[in-house]
Amino acid sequence: MSTKDEILIVGGGLNGPALALALAQAGFAVTVIDALEIDPRENPDFDGRSYALALGSQRLLDGIGLWDRLAGDAQPMLDIKVTDGHAGHGPSPFFMHFDHREIEEGPMGYMVEDRHLRRALLDKMRETDGVTLLNGKSVTGQSTSATGVSLTLDDGSQISGAIVIGCDGRSSGTAQRAGIKRTGWDYGQTSLVCSISHELPHNGVAHQFFMPSGPLAILPLTGNRSSIVWSETTGLAHEINALDDDGYLAALQPRFGDFLGEISLAGKRFTYPLGLTLANAMIADRLALVGDAAHGVHPIAGQGLNAGLRDVAALAETLADAKRRGEDPASPLVLARYQQWRRFDTASMALATDTFNRLFSNDNPLLRLGRDIGMGLINAAPALRRGFIREAAGLSGDLPRLMRGRPL
Ligand SMILES: Cc1cc2nc3c(=O)[nH]c(=O)nc-3n(C[C@H](O)[C@H](O)[C@H](O)COP(=O)(O)OP(=O)(O)OC[C@H]3O[C@@H](n4cnc5c(N)ncnc54)[C@H](O)[C@@H]3O)c2cc1C
Repeated sequence: MSTKDEILIVGGGLNGPALALALAQAGFAVTVIDALEIDPRENPDFDGRSYALALGSQRLLDGIGLWDRLAGDAQPMLDIKVTDGHAGHGPSPFFMHFDHREIEEGPMGYMVEDRHLRRALLDKMRETDGVTLLNGKSVTGQSTSATGVSLTLDDGSQISGAIVIGCDGRSSGTAQRAGIKRTGWDYGQTSLVCSISHELPHNGVAHQFFMPSGPLAILPLTGNRSSIVWSETTGLAHEINALDDDGYLAALQPRFGDFLGEISLAGKRFTYPLGLTLANAMIADRLALVGDAAHGVHPIAGQGLNAGLRDVAALAETLADAKRRGEDPASPLVLARYQQWRRFDTASMALATDTFNRLFSNDNPLLRLGRDIGMGLINAAPALRRGFIREAAGLSGDLPRLMRGRPL
C-alpha cells in the first residue's frame, strides 16, 4: 500500500468511524484518532440520544456492514405527524401527516439509539483490516507539505498520512488549525433528552410539536418506548433539568398530552445546548471536513447525522473513484469535487433548519396563522406531501451510491 492510500481521521464519534469503514472497503488504510478512551464511549449511558435515520442513511449503514448488528434494535419510522401546539392547550387543528405508504420504498427511516450505533461502529472498526484506532489521544497540531500531512498528538508523537479528515465535531480543531473560519450563533435553547416508557403503543409514528419556546419531538423506539427531544429556552431547560424525576415528568406531561397513556422515564436524562455552526469551507490543502465539523445544526428536523452520513458517502465515493482512475486522492481537484457535491446541500440544510426554528419557536399570532395555513396547504397537496416524505427519507437530491443501496 502506498502512502497515497493512508488517511488520518480526527474524531471517532459517529461520522469518523462510518467514514473509516467505507474507506477501508475501498482499500485505503485509515487511522481514526479520538481524544476519548474507548471505555466511556462503549458505556450505554454515554449519550442519551437516539437518531431518526433516513432511509438513505440506513442504506449506507447496510453498505458498510453495520445494519445486521443494528436491525434488531431499530424501530421503523412509519409516519410523521407535525403539529403546532401550546403546553396544556392540546394540538392546533392544523397539522401535517406524512404516511410512508405514499412512497414505494418502505419506512421513511429508522430510529436507532446511540448506545447501539456507537457500539456497532466501534466493534466493526476493531474487526476491520485497514482500520487502526488510536483512543485517548488528542490531536494538538497539524502541518501539510507537498507530499503529505503530519499530525501531532498530545503525547508528543507524530503520525503521517496523505489526507487528514476532520470529523472532530462542532468546534473542529482540524478546521481551526487549517485557518477555516466558522459562521454561527447560539439559539438560546437547550434540548432536554431522555427515553420514556409509555402505556400505549406508538405504532411507529414520530411526532413533532412546535411550542413557542422550542420544538418537542416524540420519536418511536422499540417496544412501548419513545425518545424525547424537548427544546426549551436555556434558562427554563436548566430549571426543568434540576427537578427530580417526578418533577421532570410533571413538567413534560402537559406538553406531551395523554395520547400514549401513562409515561415514565426509561433511562438517564441529558441536556444539549443548541446552536448553528457552519465551516466557511469543507476542504483545504490535503484536508476535508465531515459531519458536525463542517455543519452543526438545530435538531429540529433530525437532519444533523443524516447530513454527516451523506458527507461520508460522498467523500468515500469521490476518493474511491479517484483511486480507481489512478488519480491522487489528495489532489486539490479531487477534494474540490467533494466540496462541490456537498457544500450547497449542507448550507441549504443549515439555513432551512435555522428558518424553521425561527418561524416555529415563537408565539407571534401572525406567524402562527401563516404557518398553520402553510401546514394545512401542504397537508392537502399530495404532490407536496410526497416531496416532504422523500426529503425526510433522504431520497432526494444527488445521492451517493452507498445511499442508493449500491456498492461503493
Ligand atoms: C438533541 C439532539 C438530537 C439529535 N437528533 C438527531 C437525529 O434524530 N437525527 C440526526 O440525523 N441527527 C441528530 N442530531 C445530530 C447528531 O447528533 C450529530 O450530527 C452527530 O452526533 C455528529 O457526529 P460527528 O461524528 O460529526 O461529531 P461528534 O459526535 O461531535 O464527534 C466528534 C469526535 O471528535 C473527537 N475529537 C474532538 N477533538 C478532537 C481532537 N483534537 N483530537 C482527537 N479527537 C477529537 C471527540 O472526542 C468526538 O468523539 C441530534 C443532535 C442533538 C444535539
